[in-house]
Amino acid sequence: MKITGIKGFSDVFPEEVESWQLAEAEARRILSVYNFAEIRIPILEKTELFSRSIGETTDIVEKEMYTFGDRDDNDALLTLRPEGTAGVVRAYVESEMYKFEPVRKLYYMGPMFRRERPQKGRLRQFHQIGAEALGRGDPFIDAEILLLLHDYLEALQLTEPSLQLNSLGCADCRPAYRARLLEFLRQRAAGLCDNCRRRIERNPLRALDCKEPGCIAATADAPSIIDGLCAACREHFDVVQRLLRETGVAYSLNPRMVRGLDYYCRTTFEWTSTRLGSQSAVAAGGRYDGLVEALGGPAIPGVGFALGVERLVLLLRALEPREATGPGLFIAWVGVNGRDWAFPLAHRLRQKGLSVELEGEARSLKSQMRRADKLKARSVLMVGDDELQKGKVILRNMANKQQEEISLANVETALLAKKVD
Ligand code: ATP
Ligand code: MG
Repeated sequence: MKITGIKGFSDVFPEEVESWQLAEAEARRILSVYNFAEIRIPILEKTELFSRSIGETTDIVEKEMYTFGDRDDNDALLTLRPEGTAGVVRAYVESEMYKFEPVRKLYYMGPMFRRERPQKGRLRQFHQIGAEALGRGDPFIDAEILLLLHDYLEALQLTEPSLQLNSLGCADCRPAYRARLLEFLRQRAAGLCDNCRRRIERNPLRALDCKEPGCIAATADAPSIIDGLCAACREHFDVVQRLLRETGVAYSLNPRMVRGLDYYCRTTFEWTSTRLGSQSAVAAGGRYDGLVEALGGPAIPGVGFALGVERLVLLLRALEPREATGPGLFIAWVGVNGRDWAFPLAHRLRQKGLSVELEGEARSLKSQMRRADKLKARSVLMVGDDELQKGKVILRNMANKQQEEISLANVETALLAKKVD
């Protein structure tokens, strides 16, 4: 019987992997330009880490996590990470890296797991590239992260996604806003979805983030959080916006954007694209000044982002479908002598960094040319008894169909010089 993969867990085939590699390589380049260092954290963590950091009343913790017990009944419940920030902060606190130097700029990439309804741009195993700047409370680092993302999208020629910005205030000003919003929501409770109605007392801000049309309508004229910022939060937010204006990064304010994590404060942001259907968010993040402390560390601020690689790849592939590239050279050999000459040559060329392909079993020249074509080889070297006797092999450029003879004596240097790769 055929065994299939799991719903929402997808394979990424070579045609598509090229865009993934481009996204990852460009991310590593930009992140290192901005002086972020990679951290690799486990995929499995104690469930408590996520319920405490993301928040008990969020969609992720309420219904989307893959949680299970380990074999030993006494062990804590475990969860496949639904996002990366919690693990990075846990590692930062647990290793006490802040004792040596509290300011750390860290990035990660890898799979995340959320049991959501799979659709275009939404999977149960998906991938994120994310970064966290810990130990910096100033608005310049918020702006730095936004500029980093801006530069990244621009380097990938993705200029369409647009930036939305909000400030969620802080422990000083949010409670008053929360109370005002709660008052507003109580009056509109009839229009809210069951989920939001159930949670408004504990987490009223979530209602602003709900995608249900009823909730969007019912909260259309909700009080704006931006209007209720305290002087310090307003100043912080003003500086972030000034830095964006000065560097020419366009943005719009969205006072409804509250994001999914309970610990967010001050700056929050989202990059959205109109080309992704309802899964419009490509990258998102914000400031989380209380998180390190909530996870048992000192009061150290932080700000970060996470970017969805699947959605980025959808945009990249819509931009210009990239041709999968084949080997630089295909060696078509005929006869035992041809084979015994071709095999060690292929090895020497590969050692020099050329990508080379050749058959292992005897085939007609015609069928080998067909295969070279199918593999999208950029050139083909032909060798048989005749060529070996004459001391010359034939090199065919598959793009312009030009053929030339190369002397056996210096075939290796000639191929390397031609950069057939
Ligand atoms: P959405 O509003 O689309 O559900 P989110 O607010 O849950 O996004 P975050 O937790 O901020 O997303 O994650 C950051 C990014 O990761 C998102 O902007 C998106 O690009 C990507 N992402 C989140 N969930 C998924 C998923 N289930 N499948 C694919 N990508 C995802
Ligand atoms: Mg979500």
